[in-house]
Order: sequence, then C-alpha cells, then structure tokens
Amino acid sequence: MTDAPGVGPAANMRVDGERLWDSLMQMARIGPGIAGGNNRQTLTDADAEGRALFRQWAEDAGMTMGLDRMGSMFLRHEGSEPDLDPVYIGSHLDTQPTGGKYDGVLGVLAGLEVIRSIRDMGLTTRRPIVVVNWTNEEGARFAPAMLASGVFAGIHDEDYANSRTDAEGRRFGDELDRIGWRGDETPGDRKIHAMFEYHIEQGPILEAEGRQIGVVTHGQGLWWLQVTLTGKDAHTGSTPMSMRVNAGLGMARIIEAVHRIAMDHQPDAVGAVGQANVWPNSRNVIPGRAVFTIDFRSPHLDKLTSMRARLEDEAPKIAAELGLGIEIEPVGHFDPVAFDPGLVAKVRDAAERLGYSHMDIVSGAGHDACWINRVAPTVMIMCPCVGGLSHNEAEEISPEWAAAGADVLLHAVLDAAEVVG
Ligand SMILES: [Zn+2]
Repeated sequence: MTDAPGVGPAANMRVDGERLWDSLMQMARIGPGIAGGNNRQTLTDADAEGRALFRQWAEDAGMTMGLDRMGSMFLRHEGSEPDLDPVYIGSHLDTQPTGGKYDGVLGVLAGLEVIRSIRDMGLTTRRPIVVVNWTNEEGARFAPAMLASGVFAGIHDEDYANSRTDAEGRRFGDELDRIGWRGDETPGDRKIHAMFEYHIEQGPILEAEGRQIGVVTHGQGLWWLQVTLTGKDAHTGSTPMSMRVNAGLGMARIIEAVHRIAMDHQPDAVGAVGQANVWPNSRNVIPGRAVFTIDFRSPHLDKLTSMRARLEDEAPKIAAELGLGIEIEPVGHFDPVAFDPGLVAKVRDAAERLGYSHMDIVSGAGHDACWINRVAPTVMIMCPCVGGLSHNEAEEISPEWAAAGADVLLHAVLDAAEVVG
C-alpha cells in the first residue's frame, strides 16, 4: 500500500510498554468485575465512564473526536496530508458481564499508545491515523455481537440496531441516548485506507507454540444449525425398549456425527454441540423432544459448506432409523473472512523487523475487523493469552506480550500511513 516515497519505520522504534500497561490497568478500574476482571457492558454508566477516560487521554495526545449515530468513537491524529483516507486502528472498550481486562481494550489502548509514541518520536505521517472504539462488540447485553461495526459496514441498518433490547427490555437506542454518547455522523460515512485490529488470541495456540505474535490471515466462518427431534414421552421403566421413540438417543447420535464430520475435515475445521435441551427433562421420562444447536466453523468456505451438507445428509438418516421427526434450521451464519494480503504482509514484515517470533493464525472468534473487512482493507494482529482463557474474569496476558503486539501495530501502521519524517 506504500504508493509514495517515504521513510520506513526504523527497526529500533518501540512503543512505551509500561505506559500501555498502566493505561490498561487504569481502564480496568472502571466497571470492575467480581473476580478481578471487568463488567463494563455496553451503554452502561461504566461504559460511559470508560469512554470519557479514553477521550480525555486521546485529547491529551492532541487527537480530535468524531462520533457516529451508533456511538462509535473516532479519535483522529492528523497527517501531513489531511485529505488522504486515514489509517484506522480499532477494537472495543465494552466487556462481557464477567469479562477480562484485555479483550478489545488492548486494541483500543494500543492504538492510543501508537499515537503517543509517534508524538514522542516526533514522527509525521502523510495519512491521518484514527483510533476507534466500536460500540457493542460483545453483544452480551444487546445481541448481536459487533453491532456498530456491522452497521458501519452495512450489514445491519440503524433501526434494527436501535431497537435491540436487553434482558430488562431497554432499547439500545434509548440507552445510547441516556448515556449521552450518540453522535451526528452517519455510520459508514468514512473512507478507510486500511484498518488494523490488535486483539488477544482468546485461544491457546500462540502460547503453546511459544510465539509472541499471531499474524491473522483469516477469520473463521460459521454455521449454526438448530436441530429439533420429535419422539414420544414415555415412562423409562415400563416402556419396552422396542417401543421407544427416544429423542435423547437421536441427539446423542447426532452429536457423535457432528464430531466425526469435523474430524473428517481436519485441519482447520471444528464442530460441536454446545447447547442442548430435552423435554420434559425428567429423570424417569424418555425424552419426547430434543432441541440443540450445532456450531461448525472453518476458515475455508468449501469445508464449511461440506460440513453442513454432510450433517444435513446424515442427521435425517439417524432420525429415520429411530423413528424420530427432525427439523434442521440455520440460526446463524457468516462466511469465512480473508484479511487483506497486503496488510497481512505488512504485519508479518513488522514482526520480522522487530525480531519477534510469529506465526500465521486464524481468528476463531468474530471481531469488528471481520465486518470492516467487507468495506475496507483490514487485518488483525494477535498476542497470546494465558491458557487461551477469555470471556472470563481470569483472562490474563503479560505486559511483554501486550507491548510486543503494540510494537508490531506501530510498525505496520507507520508503514501504511507513510512516515514523512
Ligand atoms: Zn473482543
């Protein structure tokens, strides 16, 4: 993407890792959880407080704020050519109800640290750099996840987003107005030269492989299939085995099939049943009905499609053998994401230049970057997290891991924004 002469980032450039860590710890004091993590769910008073702190820090670093009608915050650091499309760095400050201190927050505050470091080093870039806090990435309070980035990318419309309700029936739009963070900008009304999202891995691979940096090439696609099996409730003691129509047995066999199908598509494919219910769910009644959700994921569209097709072929046969009725309903889907190859190369080059161990990796979870990739060249950088644990208050990373990824972010962003001196 470097289409003009410029000075590349020097290998000795580093962010201030201590300052980044200190900011992460200060942000974590807002909306504390009950077990050392955070409960700073979107559009709560704690979210408003976290937003205000981020805005204050960014303005202290000379940045100016734009705010869109979904409450997404865009903090801009000016370039020498303000009319050029900016380079974006974005993630989210909202957390799960029992969330960690780093999921999302790291990507926003590392973006801030990149700007602070650029100022400290007296560097100027041709392109402006904008650090974004996307509203409601987690989707814990208002489903679905990645809501504001989805509106920005044209996946959802604003009315849909505003009408989402939480468990108490409060509307997203009303809560955004209540905390005072609705802006005037039309979502999606910005041109993006490139977007970087730096995130903790939320999986165990980087730590197990002893690598400091994950160069994210793809995001997994997924199919969620809800299966309903219908049999006959009957007494577990007095119904002869030959006369049973056992929906629970059908569910067990289909769960086995899900595992087998995923294993037949290795590597780069996963499948499981994480949610399962039987009726009437009584210890002495043969289940007459079972409803469960299959989650298939792969970074490769052909594998994803093939796993769904196999399931839709095998599950009805299993049901027929047991005399069960079956319905299979798709309840969630997105296609695999291939991040921009040019930006992937920039991230890999940056890790190489800095001497950090790295590997190509696939994002197992959804992220704002997956939606933004639909409308602009996008890439992700990952750092390890202890034991792969996330969406948990015990989520942990080391200050060294946080800083290494932020260094890579600094270099890749400078490369994309073009240093002029
Ligand atoms: Zn996240």
